[in-house]
Amino acid sequence: MRDGACRCGAVLYSIDGPVRDLIVCHCGACVEATGGPWAASAVAREDLTVVDEATLRWDRAAVSEHDARRGSCRSCGVVVFWDAPARPTVSFAAATLVDASDLEVAGEIWVGETAARSAATAHPAGLPASVVVPWRG
Ligand SMILES: [Zn+2]
Ligand SMILES: [Zn+2]
Repeated sequence: MRDGACRCGAVLYSIDGPVRDLIVCHCGACVEATGGPWAASAVAREDLTVVDEATLRWDRAAVSEHDARRGSCRSCGVVVFWDAPARPTVSFAAATLVDASDLEVAGEIWVGETAARSAATAHPAGLPASVVVPWRG
């Protein structure tokens, strides 16, 4: 059993079943909707319970061949779900899980040049000492 919530706590959901490892989507639509690459897990539709559907606003995803929609919180605006109705699963933002520490990044998709460059130099724990910062003596 896992629980999740948006930043303000209006959107609450629970998951009773296995979840997928994380896929980080760098597509233009995700970046536009969320302000950056979107790290998402996914769950079987029947294993997901949203406490109050009325807290969600659904927008058609700008670019999608799956007729997908993004579900965001009506209060704080955080994008919580990505849902393509024909699929048996629903994707959700990893950052909204109460505890996603056991999930690994399984892959990065729609990676453009900038993201590919940064992925090659990724550091999991913030700025490493090897980065030269001119104003740091
Ligand atoms: Zn919220
Ligand atoms: Zn995307």
